[in-house]
Amino acid sequence: MMFTDPAKALNEKDKRWPHDAPQATGPSKLVIRNIGLLLSGAMEKPILDADTIVAENGKITAIGRAKEVDTEGATTVVDAGGTTVAPGLIDSHVHPVAGDWTPRQNQSNWIDSYLHGGVTTMISAGEVHMPGRPRDVVGLKAMAIFAQRAFWTLRPGGVKVHAGAPVIECEMVEDDFRELAAAGVKLLGEVGLGGVKDGPTARKMVGWARKYGIQSTIHTGGPSIPGSGLIDKDVVLEADTDVVGHINGGHTALPDDQIRCICEGCKRGLELVHNGNERSALFTLRTAREMGDLGRIILGTDAPAGSGVQPLGILRMVSMLSSLGDVPAELAFCFATGNTARMRALDCGLIEVGRSADFVIMDKAQHSPGKTILDSVQLGDLPGIGMTIIDGIIRTQRSRNTPPATKVPEIVSGH
Ligand SMILES: [Zn+2]
Repeated sequence: MMFTDPAKALNEKDKRWPHDAPQATGPSKLVIRNIGLLLSGAMEKPILDADTIVAENGKITAIGRAKEVDTEGATTVVDAGGTTVAPGLIDSHVHPVAGDWTPRQNQSNWIDSYLHGGVTTMISAGEVHMPGRPRDVVGLKAMAIFAQRAFWTLRPGGVKVHAGAPVIECEMVEDDFRELAAAGVKLLGEVGLGGVKDGPTARKMVGWARKYGIQSTIHTGGPSIPGSGLIDKDVVLEADTDVVGHINGGHTALPDDQIRCICEGCKRGLELVHNGNERSALFTLRTAREMGDLGRIILGTDAPAGSGVQPLGILRMVSMLSSLGDVPAELAFCFATGNTARMRALDCGLIEVGRSADFVIMDKAQHSPGKTILDSVQLGDLPGIGMTIIDGIIRTQRSRNTPPATKVPEIVSGH
């Protein structure tokens, strides 16, 4: 029998977990040149007239034509080879639990797999799949603070996971929200997944959360898994959370007339998720467009969930909404980037000086009939990802999950 050195065994095990995402070790200057198409993430100007981005120490410092920007002293140079650069995608609705593991489907490395789908930032809608999740006030506060800390310390693959989203219970008092905020909690988990399922209580607690700078979301629609319940339009509108979580259901959507009431009855974020009803997502999209409110549309996957994890879920939503919802692809990408960043006050999601240097570099998938990447997405195909960058550091090259990109960027120098 072979003797296995426990230390070695641990090292082998560690290799399966991308716990040690590279961190910046000194001053860095990233130059991405020869960009064929630059998507800004901003609906008011989704395409930028530029072919070069410079990022220093993880932040964008210049965007322009190669001749106009200072590329001297670059520590890393990427030749985009005429491909497309967009802000890293944001998943507005995930349910992380511990590290890069989910007990829901007992799956490891799901966050790293999302990175291969272009997702560089995730927002927790509650760590609800934690086995033995505490429902008492002290326990749920402790778990939220723990999750916030743990996911900020650990970035699987480099992905920024904003976690620590407590699910509210009826026994909570205002002081609990003050205490959570003081401890660094910035999000509420989906209202309705805990004991609070009525409008007046939800409204009171969402108000306390808002008072202390904690953002809120709500579970909209029918029960997701046994044990959860229905949240209808009256509760959604009365609770008045910052984001109408999965307005297209997760999975079961409200009837169209209720979805329309929500769209028209508030100005909050309208979140469409992969783990929901696609027809209802398209109905919400059309309603928001009629209202001139496409800026409210944000995307999530709601994974891990009963339907598993969807590493390409955000790309699939972009492609689905663009192709079946007749949205120009460059605008559909804004749903997964700039819209979410603005609504959630994130420093990523837009190609703007001062923002985090979080990018996804893509090209038309091989053999897509689309003439360009945008055309291919409008035809319902997914783009191929060639590289992801977070905080100015290259995290992945050719995606192991998307269809292969026709062209991939090259690292000219640095790493
Ligand atoms: Zn939900």
